[in-house]
Amino acid sequence: MPVAGRMADPARVLREVFGYSAFRGPQAEIVAHVVDGGSALVLMPTGGGKSLCYQVPSLCRRGVGVVVSPLIALMQDQVDALREAGVRAAAINSAQSLEDASDAWRAMRAGELDLVYVSPERLLGGAFLQRLAEVDVALFAIDEAHCVSQWGHDFRPEYLQLAALAERFPGVPRIALTATADPRTRDEIVLRLGLGAGRVFVASFDRPNIRYLLRDKDDAKRQLIAFLEDRRGEAGIVYARSRSRVDRFAADLREAGHDAIAYHAGMESGARAEALDRFRRDSGVVVVATIAFGMGIDKPDVRFVAHVDLPKSLEAYYQETGRAGRDGLPAVAWMAHGAGDVPLLRRFIDESDASDAQKRVEHGKLDALVGFAEASTCRRQLLLAHFGERLAEPCGNCDVCLEPARSSDATEPVRKALSAVYRTGERFGAAHLVDVLLGADTERVRALGHDRLTVHGVGGELDRAQWRSLFRQIVAAGLLEPDPEGHGGLRLGPDEKVRPVLRGERRVELRLPPPAAERRRDRRRAAAGGAPSVDAGDDDLLAALKAWRRDLARAQGVPPYLVFHDRTLVEIAARNPATREELSGVTGIGRAKLERHGDAVLALLRMHRRG
Ligand code: ADP
Ligand code: ZN
Repeated sequence: MPVAGRMADPARVLREVFGYSAFRGPQAEIVAHVVDGGSALVLMPTGGGKSLCYQVPSLCRRGVGVVVSPLIALMQDQVDALREAGVRAAAINSAQSLEDASDAWRAMRAGELDLVYVSPERLLGGAFLQRLAEVDVALFAIDEAHCVSQWGHDFRPEYLQLAALAERFPGVPRIALTATADPRTRDEIVLRLGLGAGRVFVASFDRPNIRYLLRDKDDAKRQLIAFLEDRRGEAGIVYARSRSRVDRFAADLREAGHDAIAYHAGMESGARAEALDRFRRDSGVVVVATIAFGMGIDKPDVRFVAHVDLPKSLEAYYQETGRAGRDGLPAVAWMAHGAGDVPLLRRFIDESDASDAQKRVEHGKLDALVGFAEASTCRRQLLLAHFGERLAEPCGNCDVCLEPARSSDATEPVRKALSAVYRTGERFGAAHLVDVLLGADTERVRALGHDRLTVHGVGGELDRAQWRSLFRQIVAAGLLEPDPEGHGGLRLGPDEKVRPVLRGERRVELRLPPPAAERRRDRRRAAAGGAPSVDAGDDDLLAALKAWRRDLARAQGVPPYLVFHDRTLVEIAARNPATREELSGVTGIGRAKLERHGDAVLALLRMHRRG
């Protein structure tokens, strides 16, 4: 039974099939353009709502919408989700049986399919395109379109052949979609997919529901466990640099009572698939992973992404943190960063076998990331500025906005720090320099004779964390420089910068963390105040709804979010609808889901009302 009549009105399809009351951002314009037969390139962040941009037009136009996607693992999920909403969808890829594929073809020829998902290999191989010529095609959607770009991080040669679609199906609109905002990639997509005559739609890359929290790293394990303390039972991803660190952090989290699993390329594929499956199906699993994890994860209810090591670039940071909060509910991007990470990352770059030009690019990317981490202005403003987007006001939802630290005159301690660098011979790292300034009586300090220097013990006005922060900031300001060999040592920056400070001719303002005692108090207060959480009308009711969803999902062997998204359950709990009519007004409940689950949900609500 077709849910939407052909040539139906997009707003009606949105409401009746998907259960949403309004298009988001540029969706309405994109959908109207494609329904009219126009081609387009759509740039939208992860979680921005790309799928509806081709799903709705496919239902409004005559014929089947053909969606090309490289992520076979996700196809079945998309198809299942569409079927749950009553849409006639199928997938054709190497994971599909021949029989399923021939069923799909038969349905397509009979005009009984709204959407078909195809891997690029299938679409371009064999006689697929020839056969497709005999079918009404509503549109072609090319998902993950950045795969056509050789500059990008995810080039797939077969994507280049998608240019053929323009020639073979000149009357069929093509819509290419990606979450990669980089202008060079964008131009390449337009060129290679022959989209020159189409329109380019750019959504804001802001993810307002993600809270950015950056922390100075002193003990990443302790800091991570403290951060997760208030987040038990939430799904999340922890990114670490290396396989060994992944294994170690996963073990640490398990020991702290979290349901944590490791994921990296060194594990055998069976164990990896199982980890992935657990993460998708359960709602409280924490995956500790290298960057090998993420592509093709579209779990909507990831509540946090934590970095215990610096990512490779600001782009990588944005993509990785973007996996949090796709459902639009509050989520956190947390990162512990330390100056100690930087020399190591620099060494990785220098020792790679990239060309010198490429190495310069990589160093530049790292600079941008360090600048972001060291900055004292709103994180979101900086992040968006990096993608060429201006946010007029500070966001109010990042550590800088939420935890304003006073910037104050730090000229005197900066002079002490510079002089400690100079007097120890410009070859030690921040950790040792802080030891000297704090007057530490360690074997190393004594062996080097640093206890006899005039700077030994002169830094009592700041504590260790404050000194570390000071060193990071004056490196960022160019007063100190990492040694070119990348051993982590610091030397003085250019004379014209350093001398005025040493002579007392230039004041330096820095934003230092509060003293340790104050930090502990704030931490307790933050914990008591509660992290951003799902604001439900009734916690018990929400729990009951989740339990009902879990049982149903188990029985059907699908991830819970295919039944209903968290957002939908939260809204049901808050509104507590008494009739089908009221229930149908809830976000995410279209006609098919109302039909299928409406009575069960209303019965559960009635029972709960009676107590
Ligand atoms: P993307 O592919 O861009 O990462 P999706 O298409 O998966 O994003 O959409 C992300 C989430 O937002 C999904 O849960 C989707 O149902 C929801 N969504 C998209 N558009 C709307 C809308 N207009 N109203 C409400 N929810 C929407
Ligand atoms: Zn901010």
